[in-house]
Amino acid sequence: MILCRTIPELHEALKQQQSKNAGSGTVGFVPTMGYLHEGHASLMRRSASENDISVLSIFVNPMQFGPNEDFDRYPRDEERDLALAGQNGIDIVFMPSVKEMYPKAPLTTVFVSQVTSRLCGASRPGHFDGVGLVVSKLFHLVQPDKAYFGMKDAQQVAVIQQMTDDLNFPVEIVPCPIVREPDGLALSSRNVYLTAEQREQAVMLSRSLAEAKQHFAKAGITAADIVEQTKQMIESAELAEIDYVELLHYPSLDLPDPAAVLQPERDTYILALAVKFGSTRLIDNQLFGYIGGDYHV
Ligand code: AMP
Repeated sequence: MILCRTIPELHEALKQQQSKNAGSGTVGFVPTMGYLHEGHASLMRRSASENDISVLSIFVNPMQFGPNEDFDRYPRDEERDLALAGQNGIDIVFMPSVKEMYPKAPLTTVFVSQVTSRLCGASRPGHFDGVGLVVSKLFHLVQPDKAYFGMKDAQQVAVIQQMTDDLNFPVEIVPCPIVREPDGLALSSRNVYLTAEQREQAVMLSRSLAEAKQHFAKAGITAADIVEQTKQMIESAELAEIDYVELLHYPSLDLPDPAAVLQPERDTYILALAVKFGSTRLIDNQLFGYIGGDYHV
């Protein structure tokens, strides 16, 4: 495994790996912010199984954090991350500094409209502009054939797919299923922030999504019914503070008429939530209804 901290090093490593594959190896790419866990590992293994060369990036991107968010305290563990990357089939790790990625303040924004107007796009203003910019830069630098993203960040998948289509990036976006703890909590680098009591109550997020799945199967149910039931369940965890709970079409992220009966045999829906425990904000989601394409949660 080759560790690259600069763009020239990355280019050199890609060239070197390509020469091992007679110059025509396929490149899989897994962009992350590090502090890797089994969710990231599942993406790395998928990339390794589908490509000749797998590249992992580890970069905590300041452009996607708001002024009062956790950029400075975002967890980091370089040594452990490198070990995990090596164990999961990664050939090249690109771990640039902020200065390497942004030698000067960028004046270009990558703004994707509509799919960013609700959920995390609404509660974290500017977040997806930062994501769009860094993923565009990384796509140009790595030039992958396939890029792997977790459905844990389902809105991010929708945004990146739209951006890729709109800007003709020659890359296939591969959505990958959410990896969970045995009790259902979606794995996240931010789970380390939780106190024991918060961790115990955080299980209510996945539990409420599983419960909603049962209700969703009932005839005549509306989006408003499901959102209300889900909110009530989350509120039963006394340390939980709801940021949003929304049921939307996926991947358009349009709002269905809240009072209209859902059409699960025809439409794909997402129930998405963001909940704070103290200063730790967790997200989770569940797709419902007709699941076309390559989506898994
Ligand atoms: P992050 O390091 O949080 O930016 O995540 C990097 C990639 O890993 C993103 O595509 C995430 O959606 C994905 N990811 C994070 N947590 C999980 C999880 N629990 N299951 C599957 N993918 C995940």
